[in-house]
Amino acid sequence: MVLAELGGRITRAIQQMNNVTIIDEKALNDCLNEITRALLQSDVSFPLVKEMQTNIKKIVNLDDLAAGHNKRLIIEQAIFNELCRMLDPGKPAFAPKKAKPSVVMFVGLQGAGKTTTCTKYAYYHQKKGYKTALVCADTFRAGAFDQLKQNATKAKIPFYGSYTESDPVKIAAEGVDRFKKEKCDLIIVDTSGRHKQEASLFEEMRQVAEATEPDLVIFVMDSSIGQAAFDQAQAFKQTVSVGAVIITKMDGHAKGGGALSAVAATKSPVIFIGTGEHMDEFEVFDVKPFVSRLLGKGDWSGLVDKLQEVVPKDLQHELVENLSQGNFTLRTMYEIQCSLQIPLNQLYSMLPGISAELMPKGHGDESRVKMKRYMTMMDSMTDKELDSSNTKVFNESRIMRIARGSGRLVREVMEMLEEYKRIAKTMKGIKIPKNGDMSKVIPP
Ligand code: GDP
Repeated sequence: MVLAELGGRITRAIQQMNNVTIIDEKALNDCLNEITRALLQSDVSFPLVKEMQTNIKKIVNLDDLAAGHNKRLIIEQAIFNELCRMLDPGKPAFAPKKAKPSVVMFVGLQGAGKTTTCTKYAYYHQKKGYKTALVCADTFRAGAFDQLKQNATKAKIPFYGSYTESDPVKIAAEGVDRFKKEKCDLIIVDTSGRHKQEASLFEEMRQVAEATEPDLVIFVMDSSIGQAAFDQAQAFKQTVSVGAVIITKMDGHAKGGGALSAVAATKSPVIFIGTGEHMDEFEVFDVKPFVSRLLGKGDWSGLVDKLQEVVPKDLQHELVENLSQGNFTLRTMYEIQCSLQIPLNQLYSMLPGISAELMPKGHGDESRVKMKRYMTMMDSMTDKELDSSNTKVFNESRIMRIARGSGRLVREVMEMLEEYKRIAKTMKGIKIPKNGDMSKVIPP
């Protein structure tokens, strides 16, 4: 997971304060210096990091804290709040409304993932009942219209573009006009990629905005952009009124700190993140759960929402009952994976106590393949094995039988059992009320 290393380093810096007897100025400075180094190495811009350090020091005034205060907790909370503040510009992005046409324009560097993200954004809203449409105003990149057309057709979203017209301003205006007449709720305009040195292309972007009068301009940014993020994002903001940011390729191995810089440069919130090439690999971005996951605290409310959304009501009760009795068996894990159908790394990131660094690495696709593999192996288990919450029943001959039965390696079966143990340990610490109200679950 992107930013995983950063999360791990910050968590370790905080934990290191457990090893000192007195938390004094030096201990706090050591902790903050380590966090500063980690943020800079993750491509967060220097002024932002400096500001964060100053703010934390202001909040955590060690002299004023009476003895008996849990200083470590206060520092940890201040770090959490500062990270949230960095990602939250304090004003929400424009949200399109049904039955009133909204125009949303996508801008960004070439290859950032605009065209892909336009369709993801349209598809997300279409599923929520919006009447969406796509306009391709990217006349610069050969194949851009075909790509948008292909994506739109797959998602059954109306689209507009031209193979012959070379003026993006004209296409954008015509497309928006047409879909307004067709009473679409959400008209999405894709534009060409450009960077801040290309003055004429920036002027063209301004003209597209002038002609289409967007309610929202979204800056799409590749998570691997690095230190250039701040300047690029700022240049876009100075030309068109960027009101939201979407970070793509969060499934990759980029350091990802540029995301924080883009928020600062545009003073706009991140609204979604892209986590893969597929249409549904797109997540709503919420600051607090994100920072919580980053620091290995999980996103329990997100997981509960997801369970409530996808697990049928009757099964929900059974699942909750099993969990409330500390009965997290392999069968429970199988059922959760079966019903959630989300990649393992996404599931793990929602569990409290599993730090981002320990999460399975790799893309959403790799993670899906792994999940399927685990399920095939679990299909080769006996009822006794599936219902046992103790992995000691898996002796050598059972492991070999499961491997043979599922056509997998012994090593892979053992790896799955290890992962099960890790999740089971977390699950056991969770307190679930007897009445099964998932929203009242207390994380460990
Ligand atoms: P554009 O030039 O900004 O329109 O970028 P495209 O939409 O053509 O995307 C460039 C490449 O990035 C394509 O190969 C996309 O499939 C890929 N891409 C876009 N978003 C994501 C993402 O969230 N994750 C991954 N892994 N790839 C992505």
